[in-house]
Amino acid sequence: MTDRYAVIGNPIAQSKSPLIHAEFARACGHAIEYGRILGPLGGFAPCVDAFRAEGGKGMNVTAPFKLDACAYCTDLSLDAQLAGAVNAMKFEGDRVWGENFDGVGLVRDLELNLATPLQGLRVLVLGAGGATRGAWLPLLRCRPAELVVANRTVDKALDLVSIARLHLPEQAQACRVRGSGYAELAGLSFDVVLNATSASLSGEMPPLSAAVFSPNALAYDLTYGKGMTPFLHLAQEAGVTRLADGVGMLAEQAAEAFAWWRGVRPDTADVIRLITVPLA
Ligand code: NDP
Repeated sequence: MTDRYAVIGNPIAQSKSPLIHAEFARACGHAIEYGRILGPLGGFAPCVDAFRAEGGKGMNVTAPFKLDACAYCTDLSLDAQLAGAVNAMKFEGDRVWGENFDGVGLVRDLELNLATPLQGLRVLVLGAGGATRGAWLPLLRCRPAELVVANRTVDKALDLVSIARLHLPEQAQACRVRGSGYAELAGLSFDVVLNATSASLSGEMPPLSAAVFSPNALAYDLTYGKGMTPFLHLAQEAGVTRLADGVGMLAEQAAEAFAWWRGVRPDTADVIRLITVPLA
């Protein structure tokens, strides 16, 4: 029987995961089935139970079920535990393995696809929701000179600083890790500014001064497929020429999941070309 996988979310029609995994499977010569499942709100567990009962091998998980998936898994990777969120599951008998590949996907996109090794750079992350929680320790492991997280709800940013000091104390000390609100960013500038808020989804942006971008900064919006978001516009108006959205992160986290399930890591370049919406 062909191995079956799926992405679960609500809504789910917009998901590019079936297209991405079909392309990976074709390129690697693997025969798999990869579908999309509209998970009922409040009904995540029975829906996944049914997929497993039909022989499903693994799932990607998207909003709003990443926390439900974390509770559902029997075994969690460290990144998934610390994120409190799971974006990929693997089913083996009674065991359900949970992973969070958002962080590694982001880091690979920044460091490999966009040729921006983070070591020694000043990195600012906007937002302290699920995406930042998944990316936080992978970012810190890259040993930036500074890692600052700013969030509307400041406590969530401070929580991430505590997580860094608890789990990667050496790196947290070597790299100046800080959390704050937006007002405290006055007078600071950064080499890499990552917009990990969901503001771009509704055409909004965090209250950010254009002065946060250093002259050669990379401005990166984790939201993808929206063209020039207000955040990217602000960066462009500030003279930033290196602009990117999260399409590469999406492809890279998918490639990690494919490798985890299938034992071979597909190349992402073709998929990134296929799903990129030009920033115009
Ligand atoms: P969450 O809902 O978990 O967190 C949302 C964050 O955005 C919170 O920090 C929230 O602040 C902040 N926020 C929302 N609206 C505003 C606003 N108007 N002004 C300032 N801050 C705001 O979302 P996720 O972390 O899961 O996702 C964030 C973004 O990342 C989404 O756009 C998502 O599509 C994208 N993403 C991209 C991925 C990729 O592969 N490229 C993977 C995962 C996510 P507060 O805490 O104060 O409410």
